[in-house]
Amino acid sequence: MTDNDKPSSTNSPETAPGRLFVVAGPSGVGKDTLIRELIGRWPFYLSVSATTRPARPGEVDGHDYIFLPEDEFTRWAEEERFLEWAQFSDQRYGTPRAPVEAELAAGVDVVLEVEVQGAMQVKERNPEAVFIFIEPPSLEELETRLAQRGDTRDIEARIERARVEMALADEFDHRVVNDVLSDAVAGLLSVLAHSEGSQNDQSAD
Ligand code: ADP
Ligand code: 5GP
Repeated sequence: MTDNDKPSSTNSPETAPGRLFVVAGPSGVGKDTLIRELIGRWPFYLSVSATTRPARPGEVDGHDYIFLPEDEFTRWAEEERFLEWAQFSDQRYGTPRAPVEAELAAGVDVVLEVEVQGAMQVKERNPEAVFIFIEPPSLEELETRLAQRGDTRDIEARIERARVEMALADEFDHRVVNDVLSDAVAGLLSVLAHSEGSQNDQSAD
């Protein structure tokens, strides 16, 4: 599970559904860092994705990701257990559908952290969601962050993919540059505070 509190009350006809926030942007831009900074400042459920990639040192199964073997991931996809899934850097990543739907129905805001293809799939199915693109200050800085995280094996592929993803930034409701972390956290909180369902406020753009 995640660090988030579970909803304390059961659903009732009066419960307004939670809002769905989709945070995307190039690998290494700092999406995970930013979102984890929000924990404790805003109540939300952070979706735990499934992936076929091996765990990085320190990553915990069921917390950072649900690590699935290839055949199990395929089975989940066939059983339509993913809200969206996409291939990234020779691995597959997907958002388990059931917990997201349960939290939204219980009135809890939900955050998905995905790459851009997955975000576009969600946009087709859930156009009312709020789409936020996190941008690096520069590609050079992005490369530095990937290296600092230890992604030495496929850095070039991730930078190439970043160029493609950044060309799609206009598809998003909001863009937040993650240069100075505290400024980016403030920008993200402003988007969350001003978004109401599909009524997207552009003030943080
Ligand atoms: P993502 O989830 O987008 O792949 P991460 O959150 O894992 O990215 O961040 C990638 C690396 O960049 C990490 O080492 C993280 O500590 C670092 N990082 C994140 N935000 C910043 C920032 N504003 N300034 C400098 N380094 C950062
Ligand atoms: P990483 O291997 O760096 O953890 O993740 C690689 C990319 O996959 C990142 O851009 C990350 O946001 C994205 N990602 C993580 N989980 C999901 C998911 O459930 N669906 C999709 N489409 N992308 C994801």
